Amino acid sequence: MTAILRGHDVGTVTEAKQANRLIVAIDGPAGVGKSTAAKSLAARLGYLYLDTGALYRATAWAVLGSGLDPADAAAVAALLPGLSIEMPVQHGVVTVLLNGRDVTGNLRAPEVSAAASVVSAIPAVRAWLLPVQQKIGQGGAVVAEGRDMGTKVFPSADVKFFLEADPNIRAQRRHRELVTAGHSGALEDTSADMASRDSRDRSRSIAPLVPAEDARHIDTSNLSAAEVVDQMLAVIAAKL
Ligand code: C5P
Repeated sequence: MTAILRGHDVGTVTEAKQANRLIVAIDGPAGVGKSTAAKSLAARLGYLYLDTGALYRATAWAVLGSGLDPADAAAVAALLPGLSIEMPVQHGVVTVLLNGRDVTGNLRAPEVSAAASVVSAIPAVRAWLLPVQQKIGQGGAVVAEGRDMGTKVFPSADVKFFLEADPNIRAQRRHRELVTAGHSGALEDTSADMASRDSRDRSRSIAPLVPAEDARHIDTSNLSAAEVVDQMLAVIAAKL
């Protein structure tokens, strides 16, 4: 059982910005704009962008590919020793390799989203992925995005954000993303999928989606992606 991320993308890093090598933790439910903000923030800071959802999605992809029920905790746990997940980073782009195969393009499908949310509630999966994420972040200079970055994975992160937005706006954003990526399906289905995923993520007994006590909340409902990043940079600037 291995999970590896190969080296920071030092090609985009400037020494000045790297001086403090902060850990920036971004949490929140689906569709709040976490990925867009985290990616753009990482690029602005010259930091590594760590998409932890991709690790759960790749695990879900493996579970589905093995014909297992994602809710069968014992079967999923038994699968883990045979899995290897790598996240090589090249020129700021994270690629996800599952047992050596590039699955990056397969991870955003709605069935993978739903299965990721189910397998992520299995303690063995979280225990497997926890040290992987912490190892990636240990050198700092990372913008980590997920559900439990500020609470479990990086509780001592230098800066923590919790993003929120109106559920209708979140569903519209996610639906637009899916349509752009070539998926079909009605807005109502996207909205229902997101609602059940969020409620599972918030109510699970292990590492539920909750804001860290010291997280700064940003409501992104009426903000552009650039405005979200500007607000984040204003907070981070004080620490650089
Ligand atoms: O962020 P993303 O939508 O890609 O995450 C997919 C699923 O993986 C989430 O719905 C959540 O269940 C799970 N996840 C998690 N903890 C994280 C990141 C993602 O439980 N840190």
